[in-house]
Amino acid sequence: MKMKKTALLLALVMSLALLCSCARESTTTVYVMDTFAEITMYPKDKKTEERITEMLYDLEGELSATSGALSRINEAGGGETGEHTKALLALSEQYYKETNGAFSPYLGSLIELWGVGSKNHVPTEEELSGALSASVAENVERDGEKLVLKDGVRLDFGAIAKGYATDVIKSILEEEGTKGAVIFLGGNVYVHGTKPNGELYRVAIRDPKGNENDWILALELSNKFIISSGDYERYFEENGVRYHHIFSPETGYPAESDLRAICVIADSGALADAYSTALYVMGSRGAIQFWREHEGFELVLVGRDGTVTLTEGIGNNFIINNQKDYKYEVAKR
Ligand code: FAD
Ligand code: MG
Repeated sequence: MKMKKTALLLALVMSLALLCSCARESTTTVYVMDTFAEITMYPKDKKTEERITEMLYDLEGELSATSGALSRINEAGGGETGEHTKALLALSEQYYKETNGAFSPYLGSLIELWGVGSKNHVPTEEELSGALSASVAENVERDGEKLVLKDGVRLDFGAIAKGYATDVIKSILEEEGTKGAVIFLGGNVYVHGTKPNGELYRVAIRDPKGNENDWILALELSNKFIISSGDYERYFEENGVRYHHIFSPETGYPAESDLRAICVIADSGALADAYSTALYVMGSRGAIQFWREHEGFELVLVGRDGTVTLTEGIGNNFIINNQKDYKYEVAKR
């Protein structure tokens, strides 16, 4: 475990920060999927940046539950689905089962009802039970190539589509033979290859209690997806109560988690994104239990009580930055 506080360059996007100082890079920032995407290429490569940007707009056009083709399918109660919708639904069904429903792509009606960040509405019990009874897997059927959405179910890929998009970006970087790249997409980060000097990238995990430049620890890695979920960025307050955007599919209310944030490190963006949301809902005990029962990912959990738990597969590849407000522990298999 390294314990050093160094002068690092902080490039913060939403919930995670990249710490890296390299020359000859090029960076593009675009607003897409209701967040900022920042694409940095080592060395400079405008052509690949443009390819990635176009792909992000295409994905938004297909997958947005508010303005994309998916919103029209939801409105019409079904229809023909595009290639990415089909792929995402198959992955979502898999993660829904694996997480015992904690990650659910069927919550569109519930998400729309609350409208966190838009209409900011605290629903009545009647409204909630209506949305919850619509939001079940059994209401999604197939008729050949067509999707049939029954009894008010609406699909929402908000918890997985950005991770999936970073998987698609990775395949573009591989096709283009890119040596190094860093992709931020909201709370999602993908680091590709290494820095030009061969060093690993440093990705910092933001302090949910601090301002956007404060970070708890940084991970050193390469060719990994680092995806976070938390209650501190998308929320509203009414009568002194804070309502955030990650819902318990059981109660229909924002999940009452003992976590402030969770970060999943994996080789797949879609998996890390779906798990980050599900494991936030499960809370620290459920998340560690899930990690013990499944392979292929590591976790950083930031508890409300100031405990930061790292799973043992992270090894020594991290730098602690805040020992004043947080205590650190390692979870074993
Ligand atoms: P994550 O934890 O990864 O996901 C949380 C989001 O997933 C919630 O906001 C909700 O949408 C959904 N969710 C909540 N609970 C669960 C659960 N238990 N299981 C599964 N899903 C859950 N936002 C806008 O306000 N306007 C837009 O026009 C808009 N367009 C978008 C277009 C696309 C293609 C995408 C992917 C997102 C868009 N968003 C938009 C943002 C979206 O609504 C979510 O707020 C955002 O994806 C949250 O991501 P996150 O990584 O912060 O959190
Ligand atoms: Mg997610």
